[in-house]
Amino acid sequence: MAYHNEKDLLFELFPATARRLFPGGPAGAPPTLALCPVAGGGLALIDGDRLLELEPLEQAGRGSVMCELCSRTVSRSDALFYRVRVPSAAGRWRYLALCAKRSGCESVAGSARLKRLAQRLQQPV
Ligand SMILES: [Zn+2]
Repeated sequence: MAYHNEKDLLFELFPATARRLFPGGPAGAPPTLALCPVAGGGLALIDGDRLLELEPLEQAGRGSVMCELCSRTVSRSDALFYRVRVPSAAGRWRYLALCAKRSGCESVAGSARLKRLAQRLQQPV
């Protein structure tokens, strides 16, 4: 999908987030890498000209999980679960757990790990 279509989609689906990400409007310069909350409890992962939608999932099960961004082990109550559509594979999803407290998570992880996560989520099956 061409970049302008992804951005248009973000403006259509999550206008508040889109205005924050693209203060110049649909024609403004995009951030290169960002993980941002969107309406409905999900996250938008922007990687250059790509936009990945992380849909929130119900919390299930017990025990601890590893955050796939900062690699720390956290209890389930401190984690949030998401699914991401696999590019070019209709109906297939990747599932991931991330820390509920994103600010601490992202500062531990840094932009290099966020970039790696974005690349992994964009891999075709
Ligand atoms: Zn984390």
